[in-house]
Amino acid sequence: MHLPLRRANFPASMAVEVNPASFAAPRLVALNDALAETLGFAPEWLRSPEGVALLSGQTRIEGVPALAQAYAGHQFGQFVPQLGDGRAHLLGVVTDARGDVHDVQLKGSGPTPFSRRGDGLAALGPVLREYLVSEAMAALNVPTTRALAAVTTGETIWRDKPQPGAILTRVAASHLRVGTFQYFAAREDREALAFLCDLAIDRHAPSAREAENPVKALYETVVARQAQLVARWMSLGFVHGVMNTDNMTLSGETIDYGPCAFLDTYSHDKVFSSIDRNGRYAYGNQPRLAGWNLARLAETLLPFFDTNEDRALAWAQEALGRFQSLYEEAWLDRMRPKLGLATKGDQDKTLIEALLEVMETETLDWTLSFRRLARNENLVAGHAPATLERWMADWQARRALEPASLKAQQDLMQRNNPAVIARNHRVAEAIAAAETGDFSVFEALLQRLRQPYDNDAAYELPPMPEQIVHATFCGT
Ligand code: AMP
Ligand code: MG
Repeated sequence: MHLPLRRANFPASMAVEVNPASFAAPRLVALNDALAETLGFAPEWLRSPEGVALLSGQTRIEGVPALAQAYAGHQFGQFVPQLGDGRAHLLGVVTDARGDVHDVQLKGSGPTPFSRRGDGLAALGPVLREYLVSEAMAALNVPTTRALAAVTTGETIWRDKPQPGAILTRVAASHLRVGTFQYFAAREDREALAFLCDLAIDRHAPSAREAENPVKALYETVVARQAQLVARWMSLGFVHGVMNTDNMTLSGETIDYGPCAFLDTYSHDKVFSSIDRNGRYAYGNQPRLAGWNLARLAETLLPFFDTNEDRALAWAQEALGRFQSLYEEAWLDRMRPKLGLATKGDQDKTLIEALLEVMETETLDWTLSFRRLARNENLVAGHAPATLERWMADWQARRALEPASLKAQQDLMQRNNPAVIARNHRVAEAIAAAETGDFSVFEALLQRLRQPYDNDAAYELPPMPEQIVHATFCGT
């Protein structure tokens, strides 16, 4: 079998060659056939013993060593100068038929020089969680890393309780993080930073090459992409949960699904992550924190913006200053179609915020409420509260200004308000069954998540009170 993988050409300061651990009895438990084919891997080969050996890190490819990448990061606001891939191995890079380049990385594949006190391993639960949620995001058109495969290692690992060990094969446009730049900025390694800028431009912003200052153009691209990304998260009620600078990409893809969750009932300040005690990464804080992370990225690039420090800083402030308005615009662009609006109105922001206020007061489900609007159904059973009646009237008045027919508005809403998201209780249920060896619940959920805009009387339902997941764990 010819493998499409080739070596990622990082200089030695950026990545360490290190083999994944040996595992007793690797077994493939999930494979993304469609993604495999896009990348040029034959799914039947990936299912073979040789394929499973690759997906569990047991194969050494001549000339393509596995690599652990260096990065730093602000974790909950605290700078840690060295984090790095402590439990991940970059197998190599692949160019797909369209010419797009992807990293193929194992996560949970054993210790590396960056493991610090960790064991380098991952438990089955978090692996399946990342698999489900990242694939759900892809189906919802949110830029994201993808899940190619999951294997169990045959070993038991120790967390709060003994758990099956597992490895996720993750595919990403790259693993360049804000933290990757911070690692070299902290070491004042200008050469490495220049290399990273070049790589990021090649992979994520080739047109920046034509700009007078390509690094400025790269930064502007990253700012714009993050504004778009977070707007998508917000419109879907997605909470990333751990937006540390090492978990923010230059590509604009969502990365590192840990304690992430989709909102059930809407609450602006909702926090799921059990380690986020101060609510730093609460749902409603995400746009602000994305801006904070982008400021950290700008700090690493100042010398490239301008040789004059004051001018560099002034330019960075201006570029970063645009994030807020780019975000607002992106958010409105995502929220309007959720209400059937294809044109822009001056009062749209007020209208949308008024709905959110009603939703929060009435503890309405985020996803289902929008879907109900799309289906012309009542948002609350029985008599609607006066605030909602009033909002409905305002909404009808606004819709009357649209050139499109009511039917066309409704179609627009159906296409922008998913019925099925990766609800926490469904994900928990899939993981619990898988931990007993039954992957059918996981498979059924995954298939359903691939068609998020189809109605589904069972999967669209919010949790019953006893099914509500209040907290999620990082799983590390
Ligand atoms: P995360 O919270 O997953 O973004 O990871 C933060 C840092 O901790 C990264 O440097 C990871 O590589 C490292 N890390 C997380 N879990 C483990 C583990 N089980 N063993 C070693 N390193 C880990
Ligand atoms: Mg991370």
